Amino acid sequence: MSDTVLRFAPSPTGGFHVGNARTAIFNHLYAEHYKAKLLLRVEDTDRERFTESSLQTILDGLNWLGVDFDAEPVFQSDNAEAHKQAAARLVETGHAYYGYETAEELDAMRRQAQVEKRRVRYNRDLTPEQQAAYEGRPRVVRFKVPVGETVWHDRIRGVQRWDNAEVEDFVLLRPDGSPVYNLAVVVDDRDMGVNLVLRSADHLSNTPKQIMLFEALSWMVPEYGHSTLILGPDGSKLSKRHGATTISEYRERGFLSDAMFNYLALLGWAPGDEREVFARDELVEVFSVEGLLKRDAIFDEKKLVWLNGEQMRLRPVDAVLDDAVPIWIAEGWLTEAEASERRDELMKIAELLQPRLHTLEDLKHTGYFFVDPDVYDAKTAKKNWKTDTPERVELMIERLQDLDSFGEGEIEGVTRTLSGELGISASRLIHPTRLALCGVGFGPGLFELMAVLGRETCVRRLKKALEVLGS
Ligand code: GLU
Repeated sequence: MSDTVLRFAPSPTGGFHVGNARTAIFNHLYAEHYKAKLLLRVEDTDRERFTESSLQTILDGLNWLGVDFDAEPVFQSDNAEAHKQAAARLVETGHAYYGYETAEELDAMRRQAQVEKRRVRYNRDLTPEQQAAYEGRPRVVRFKVPVGETVWHDRIRGVQRWDNAEVEDFVLLRPDGSPVYNLAVVVDDRDMGVNLVLRSADHLSNTPKQIMLFEALSWMVPEYGHSTLILGPDGSKLSKRHGATTISEYRERGFLSDAMFNYLALLGWAPGDEREVFARDELVEVFSVEGLLKRDAIFDEKKLVWLNGEQMRLRPVDAVLDDAVPIWIAEGWLTEAEASERRDELMKIAELLQPRLHTLEDLKHTGYFFVDPDVYDAKTAKKNWKTDTPERVELMIERLQDLDSFGEGEIEGVTRTLSGELGISASRLIHPTRLALCGVGFGPGLFELMAVLGRETCVRRLKKALEVLGS
């Protein structure tokens, strides 16, 4: 066990954004690979924006992704007293001061600063008499940003330098005594023993403020590492405008946890070789902080879909079946009882589907394994169903009925023989037969599909199609 302590610190004010999930995954991979400790802190200080359902969504999402923690979650709101004490100490030691300006006064000060093209100058050094005169007015605690530079060695970005003149004196406690994000984070990171903060570049501008607070409080400054932003395909920051952005949306759309984990790990981290498909424990093994990238990552849903298919193939077939059964039951194609009675046969279906699935959503288009089609895809029919098709299908029916056994090899043999006799390519039999059997033009290889459906079903469906399509 190393003595590194990391934390993931979500604010439960909405859905579980893929960017936050990626931060959680990087922290998890770091903790697992380097044997560090990972803690969870729920940043619920902003009571107006906090919601219980958002917290639940985040916890469910973490659980689904397999990100776990080494201790029970810490709730930031439980630490309010410590936040206030830290602010009081900063006032006592001259690192912070009370601000009494009203909203209108602040506005005027900001406007003036704009005109003079400089930072706002707050009243840092009120005399005791001035303070007394303000007695009774609401007041904030404001940090006195020191002169100089704030420098840190970022674990991902290398040396970072901020001129403190760029940072305005910032509020630590609001008039109601509630702490502002930067103060709460510093106090909590210190209390939790956090010594490495891995988070996204969104927080880069907070880091100098947090370091100044650590220093003013004479506390040890943690190390920081800021990963890249996640951008949409158009190069702007990923947002709802680009489509689904939360873990629950992807989960509902039939993406696998392993694929989501794998995909997000690759957004801003690279293994140093060409590999892209990783099982979870491989990722833990090959992860390194050096592999975390500085260049922004583009969220590419097509690639996620591809990766989901690849992850689908890595699973044992009964895992695929276990995911499929509830979908088939929900579609009304199976009952619970049938699902267990017919498990062997269903396993064969899952085997046929596994190489072709992209997402679990695709399973909603596999009704042809269970019910005879009522409708036939018009486009496929136009392309594949010609005037001479019915007589060819009749011949197929005859040959299928004559087969001694209804295995994939026999079905293929009879189809190829018949197409040879008719002097046409086998595909001229295969496509119309698939349409007649399934009502659609896609699916697994026809011969294996027919073997799974069985002779009785195939013959019945072909005869029905002759009536419907023939007319
Ligand atoms: N609660 C912050 C957020 O969700 C993260 C705080 C941090 O990592 O310092 O953006």
